[in-house]
Amino acid sequence: MDYRKHLKSTINDYLNIKDNIKTGIERKEEIEKNKKVILEKLNGREEDWKDYKWQLKNRIDNAEKLKKIFPLTDEEIKEVDKVASVYRFAISPYYLSLIDTKDFKDPIKLQAIPSGKELIGHGDLDPMDEKGTTPVEGITRRYPDRLIVKVTNQCGMYCRFCQRRRLIGETDHHIDRNTLEKDIEYIRNNEEIRDILLTGGDAFMLSDSTIEWLLQELRSIPHVEIIRFGTRTPVTLPQRVTDNLVNILKKYHPIYVNTHFNSPAEITEESKEACEKLANAGIPLGNQMVLLNDVNNDPMVVRKLNQALLTIRVKPYYIFHTKPVKGTEHFWCKVEEGLDIMESLRGRTSGMAIPTYIVNGPGGLGKTPVLPNYLQYIGRDKAYFRNWNGVPFEIENKFDDIE
Ligand SMILES: *Cc1c(COP(=O)(O)O)cnc(C)c1O
Repeated sequence: MDYRKHLKSTINDYLNIKDNIKTGIERKEEIEKNKKVILEKLNGREEDWKDYKWQLKNRIDNAEKLKKIFPLTDEEIKEVDKVASVYRFAISPYYLSLIDTKDFKDPIKLQAIPSGKELIGHGDLDPMDEKGTTPVEGITRRYPDRLIVKVTNQCGMYCRFCQRRRLIGETDHHIDRNTLEKDIEYIRNNEEIRDILLTGGDAFMLSDSTIEWLLQELRSIPHVEIIRFGTRTPVTLPQRVTDNLVNILKKYHPIYVNTHFNSPAEITEESKEACEKLANAGIPLGNQMVLLNDVNNDPMVVRKLNQALLTIRVKPYYIFHTKPVKGTEHFWCKVEEGLDIMESLRGRTSGMAIPTYIVNGPGGLGKTPVLPNYLQYIGRDKAYFRNWNGVPFEIENKFDDIE
């Protein structure tokens, strides 16, 4: 049977399942109900919910507070307490409202609520050796023409799989002005640096005025071509994307924002609004997903996520293979799972919905792309391939006798 006559049949598996994998927009009513309950328990009003400062101030950051809002067994509460004394936790009321309490393996819950599993297993707190590739405090430089500046340790929510757990600590602090000035000096003195990635923590946790100051400084350096922000606020604290912030950002183009959706359940009306605001200001949006056991190590979940991201104007950019960070072993996946996901995307969805799958080389060796083998073999004068649906073909690959 020629699959080209029956194209629809090549995606029937997805069509049959897609309505069971719910986005936050499809769960709107339940989320609205959760929000009402949480607001009541926190003594907040509707306007408070929309205020990111209220959201930050009311982050749920200990077992006592969590117990009041979220149904947990005594055993679970004890676990949360124990883990919280080792690894920080804090959840914005908004992000907490996305949890489907009926779902034992809810993807939001797995990412946000501490699990006793964090205290067992092996791994390293700094497997990427960021410390070893730090020329000045705050900067990680691993590539010739670009670098990251970790401007703060603060986040809207502390992800349970965080790769920078070692930096998160117990309290929020932005890096001080003095250090930032040294970082800017380093960039100014190294004229091959053309791309600056501001990250953290979460770069949008800085105040509007600090962000504006930083952008002004960076834009005064002639060799800085592009500036990128790494932020999970569109996912965990979409209220942070205010008109004021967006109006600042758009004065310093070209600005790019990479965000971090891991699950269709995170795509809500609020996150959509945040992404649209940024996109309307001319900021291209990319998504960096981390491959996480039980959250998104499923080709159908990733297809739904990536297609939904395009509808909110976010282009899937990377899928990161889970890094072997201590205390996150229950999230680790196999490389085969990542490859299966890549295989299931190509041909079956828009090329726009297909990110690059990346394995990070330990010890700072850097981002390494992984792709299913479409190129099967290069012969003397032909190259042999298979297409997305497994059909083999060959092309001429003989140029040396053209005289
Ligand atoms: C991820 C990363 C970058 C950016 O990499 P791109 O592939 O350009 O997105 C830059 N520097 C460091 C240290 C990084 O970890």
